[in-house]
Amino acid sequence: MDKIPYKTYLSENEIPSSWYNMRADMKRKPAPMLNPGTLQPMTAKELDKVFCEELIRQELDETTPYIPIPEEIRSFYQMFRPSPLIRAYFLEQALGTPAEIYYKFEGNNTSGSHKLNSAVAQAYYAKKQGLKGVTTETGAGQWGTALSMACAFFHLDCKVFMVKCSYEQKPFRREVMRTYGADVTPSPSMTTEVGRSINAAHPGTTGSLGCAISEAVEAAVTREGYRYVLGSVLNQVLLHQSIIGLETHLALKKLGVKPDVIVGCAGGGSNLGGLIAPFMGEKLRGEADYRIIAVEPASCPSFTRGKYAYDFCDTGRVCPLQKMYTLGHDFIPSPNHAGGLRYHGMSSTLSELYAQGLMEAAAVEQTRVFEAAREFARTEGILPAPESAHAIRVAVDEALRCKEQNRKERIVFGLTGTGYFDMVAYQKFNDGQMSDYIPTDEDLAASFAKLPKID
Ligand SMILES: *Cc1c(COP(=O)(O)O)cnc(C)c1O
Repeated sequence: MDKIPYKTYLSENEIPSSWYNMRADMKRKPAPMLNPGTLQPMTAKELDKVFCEELIRQELDETTPYIPIPEEIRSFYQMFRPSPLIRAYFLEQALGTPAEIYYKFEGNNTSGSHKLNSAVAQAYYAKKQGLKGVTTETGAGQWGTALSMACAFFHLDCKVFMVKCSYEQKPFRREVMRTYGADVTPSPSMTTEVGRSINAAHPGTTGSLGCAISEAVEAAVTREGYRYVLGSVLNQVLLHQSIIGLETHLALKKLGVKPDVIVGCAGGGSNLGGLIAPFMGEKLRGEADYRIIAVEPASCPSFTRGKYAYDFCDTGRVCPLQKMYTLGHDFIPSPNHAGGLRYHGMSSTLSELYAQGLMEAAAVEQTRVFEAAREFARTEGILPAPESAHAIRVAVDEALRCKEQNRKERIVFGLTGTGYFDMVAYQKFNDGQMSDYIPTDEDLAASFAKLPKID
């Protein structure tokens, strides 16, 4: 058999023409979003003040498997897609594993991550609806950057609430966003009611995604012609990110490779939900089986230590309730260096798939994550984002297991982005000053106690 190439690129006309909606193939669907006042499922009309119309339609659609990608979005995709699927020959060699390792690299665009796949879709639908602008939150800054790029392209105003610890750790991220025309505010701020009350309740807090979401929602609903957009967690975002999995599926098919294990990091679940989409579809339809592993930080372990319960998506409790694996909307994780994975909850779709035993989860400590990042950078050349390095850690652990068991399994992981803006984190690691904070059971019990009581 011919040697599998290092890089497999699809051609531009092989970019998928539809996104794939996993929920259509789920027999037991994710629980619906609830209105926190009435505890009834949120209707499109109720969501209308917060979200764009077409995105609400996608959010609530659990029956249509394939949703066509509008031509304007597909041509934007052509600027940076298809992304390569890379065979990690050098990493395999360094590990001495009989396993084959492949990764789908999403860091080949200026935002440096997969977030642009959904940002461009959301900005497009906002523009089509005739809106003036959008508001959002950003943790590590990748989503804010992706959205400001997309808004610049479609001439939309973009207001970003950036988690304060990232705002301070990553001043250059802020400048990239401002270069694309976004207005960036550190969160919690004093510019919103909810920001002021969070600051009063937690003086000196360095913020969290949950806080920033509350602020961004308030900023949207109090402004004419604005809507709120979110970079992860929601079904619509998983839908747009399915482009990652569809391309991966097609590239592997062309290579004649069937994966055994698929690994991705999980913050709100969008890249993982996107990567696994077509594979999970086959699993749900009984056509194939794969091991699927979600990797999260031990400091913010939603799947592995969270509760599967209805909770607020944000700290300020302005958002609808979602049934998901959650650490509690009041949980503020320690300021670890994978900003994009510091979210208290998880996609409701992935939560339901996990509850049904269709996927696994692993929690990994920060120092071991950076050890994997360093090994990857030195062998494969790409400097990974700390978030992505969570997936690398578990892919490497799986490859080492294969070595021990002398098994030639095929491992595919999502390399969601590059880490050029994470040099403070790498510096801490290189100086041997990285800490591995893990919340205690008491910490978690305190925030579980604040979960809304819903049967
Ligand atoms: C945001 C982000 C993540 C985590 O978000 P998901 O929605 O779980 O995918 C992972 N990697 C990178 C590089 C990110 O920017």
